[in-house]
Amino acid sequence: MMKLDDLNNASATDFVALLDGTYEHSPWIAERAAAARPYLSLAALKVALARVVREASVDEQLGLIRAHPELAGKAAVAGELTAESTNEQQKAGLTACTADEFAKLQKLNADYNARFGFPFILAVRGPRGTGFTRAEIIATFERRLRAHPDVERAECLRQIHRIAEIRLNDKFGVTPILGQQLWDWAAELAVHSEDEAFLTCTYASPAHTAVAEQLMAWMRDCGFDDVSRDAVGNVVGVYNGTGDQRLLTGSHYDTVRRAGRFDGRLGILVPMLVVRELHRQGKRLPFGIEVVGFSEEEGQRYAATFLASSALTGAFDPTWLEQTDAHGVTLRDAMRAAGLPAKAAAITALKRDRSRYLGFVEVHIEQGPVLDSLDLPLGIVTSINGSRRYTGEIVGMASHAGTTPMGQRRDAAAGVAELILFAEKRAATVPDIVATVGMLEVPSGSINVIPGRCRFSLDLRATTDEARDALDADVRAELEAICARRGLSFTLQPTVAANAAPSDSAWQSRWEAAVAELGLPIHRLPSGAGHDAMKMHELLPQAMLFVRGGNGGISHNPLESVTVDDAELAVAAFQELCSSIQA
Ligand SMILES: [Zn+2]
Repeated sequence: MMKLDDLNNASATDFVALLDGTYEHSPWIAERAAAARPYLSLAALKVALARVVREASVDEQLGLIRAHPELAGKAAVAGELTAESTNEQQKAGLTACTADEFAKLQKLNADYNARFGFPFILAVRGPRGTGFTRAEIIATFERRLRAHPDVERAECLRQIHRIAEIRLNDKFGVTPILGQQLWDWAAELAVHSEDEAFLTCTYASPAHTAVAEQLMAWMRDCGFDDVSRDAVGNVVGVYNGTGDQRLLTGSHYDTVRRAGRFDGRLGILVPMLVVRELHRQGKRLPFGIEVVGFSEEEGQRYAATFLASSALTGAFDPTWLEQTDAHGVTLRDAMRAAGLPAKAAAITALKRDRSRYLGFVEVHIEQGPVLDSLDLPLGIVTSINGSRRYTGEIVGMASHAGTTPMGQRRDAAAGVAELILFAEKRAATVPDIVATVGMLEVPSGSINVIPGRCRFSLDLRATTDEARDALDADVRAELEAICARRGLSFTLQPTVAANAAPSDSAWQSRWEAAVAELGLPIHRLPSGAGHDAMKMHELLPQAMLFVRGGNGGISHNPLESVTVDDAELAVAAFQELCSSIQA
């Protein structure tokens, strides 16, 4: 087996030779990475190799992609592939295709090549490392055939890095066993769903209760000292330390409809593995670790969101118990059906005493494309964005599309269109702020009628409250100006306003140190999405760690993906964080 020292101490020529076969027929990648030695870790080497490719010219990138064989292509059949490719294609069962599958793959190869001018690349061993099924490979092929060429080229390069990662693991004899455990747990939890074809696990449903029970069983197996489900359905595991204070951590186990497996759950499973390893080594830290599987974060079933973390901060409003879901079931009745007491006093009693806690940390899948596009497994969150949301309507005059001259129109949809373009331009002037009109509707619109009304939504987010409020003021002022100029009127209803939750600087630094300790570059980024940490921010200093999501970072979608290697690094970062805390 290869060792990092072998690579670090080798001559540049030997370094390239040792990495031969990692990137298909492309020694230039290792040649350029040789100068950046020594590498602190295998993860650091992987990131450095990916960086060489990212900084290469487009022609060099295309050359790398084209150095790869087609999946189940003619070269595979003729036995003309590199040893590494033969091994991978065989393991994926691509050499044992049925005649139908083979014909389908040949057609896909031809169509793909015609569209993009390079072969389709997929790390067939997948995020788990054990391989996609042929049906999954074909489905991925079909999906990516429709992608934009630039997006697809970038995806091919990321797949090549994943192929290289697995080849390096093989060379080094490394198996990410903690990451694999996490991945398998996430897969087992995903079996509990309200929907047969997709993962859906909303608050207090039978699937939700089943997940809670499974988490509790695993927590006991991990060696937690105390495991329970509290009055709002949070799963709480405590691993005692030698001192009285605790580190609070966790994330949510409810999901959106048609969810991914890792959103929320990753942040419960990572610290569970940390505790399992501590328990296996018979180790106690100077502080306890309290892992909370928050029962509700997504706001899918009831209007109130953060039910679970609100209970911990003392912000649970007892009137929420009267809220009803789409079927008219009150929160109180739903809780009772799930075996929870549904008593306001029991929920109020869950409020945590801040003096007992060091702080709150949360690990979460990024749910965005940033880390994936930078080829970085981990990122440090600087702030959870504050937001303002509105629903609005512009009213003009519905009139005949043929007879109303352009200068005499009062087109409500054109007014909203102008607002969208302004919001897009305004948000782009400041880093890390975003503005989105996600819903747009011309009620009872018609092809030959000028829109008299146009309804829209507006979602504004920024890393600081000041930036959010400035964006908000500008967008609203522009809405007024547009309407005045176009002879329109408008209404604007605020629906949500959430303050930004900047990371606590001491805790953010601890995450940064932990990531640096793993040999990885520190990349800081804001969280555009809300998280339990946003609520816990009201009670405790907090900071989050993001883990790269595959498939362009897609989330709230069955395509959401995390590799076992990235999951392993998340666990390792959490371990580093724990060992850095002086309690
Ligand atoms: Zn989440």
